[in-house]
Parts: sequence; structure tokens; C-alpha cells
Amino acid sequence: MATSNDCLFCKIVAGEIPNDTVYETDTVLAFRDITPRANTHVLVIPKSHQDTLAQMAGEGADLAELFAACGEVARLEGIEESGYRVVSNVGPDAGQEVFHVHIHVLGGQNLGPVAAGRG
Ligand code: AMP
Ligand code: ZN
Repeated sequence: MATSNDCLFCKIVAGEIPNDTVYETDTVLAFRDITPRANTHVLVIPKSHQDTLAQMAGEGADLAELFAACGEVARLEGIEESGYRVVSNVGPDAGQEVFHVHIHVLGGQNLGPVAAGRG
């Protein structure tokens, strides 16, 4: 499995930094965001290191597992019916802080319009 020494989320996968796990498979880990921006805010990550979602573009099976896990998280969190949002920040303009692929799963409240730079 690809890992990166200085990567925060690789350390979480390795168990070196504690996390509040919601769901886990052999290839995917989902845990609560440490600074939640919605009533439900879970991060879904591949256990194998990739910097951004863009780098996974050719990896259909891995992407399918990642998004299937987002759906499973929504089911476990009880927001499947009320609705939720999946977001992945890619690069500087999106404000990506952690360069290990992660999907934000947000819900448990009305989220309003998709956040953008205007309005
Ligand atoms: P992004 O800005 O898309 O790169 O999102 C990174 C997310 O990681 C932010 O929402 C942070 O609150 C979250 N985060 C940072 N450190 C931790 C941690 N140790 N455990 C859980 N979430 C974290
Ligand atoms: Zn990593």
C-alpha cells in the first residue's frame, strides 16, 4: 500500500494518530472530521496514499469503493433519506489542506447552496 511519511492521514491509517472511525473496509477508512462544519461531517479516505482525487482519475475500481463507502457512511449516519453532500477539495483554489485524497460527507441539516467563492 502506498504511504507517505509526512502525511497526516497516512498516520491516521497506521493508527499513529487517533481518529473517530465511522466505517472501515480493507481499502477505505471513514472518520469524523476534527472540525465539523455540519451536524454530520465525515471524511472518507482510501487507505493507500494519493495526493488528490485528480490522481485517482484512471482508477475506476478504487473510486467506486471510495464512493460506495460515502453511501455506506450516509446510511450509518441516518442521513440517506434527509440528504447529504459529498465534496472533495483539489488543490490551492479549493483550499485543500491535507494532500491525501478525502471526500467530505456532510449532512444532518439543511446545507444551503453549494459553497463557492461568490455570493
Ligand atoms: P481539506 O481542506 O479538504 O484538505 O480538508 C481537510 C480536513 O481535515 C479539514 O476539514 C480538517 O478539519 C480535517 N482534519 C485535519 N486534521 C484532522 C484529524 N486529525 N482528524 C480528523 N480530521 C482532521
Ligand atoms: Zn497519505
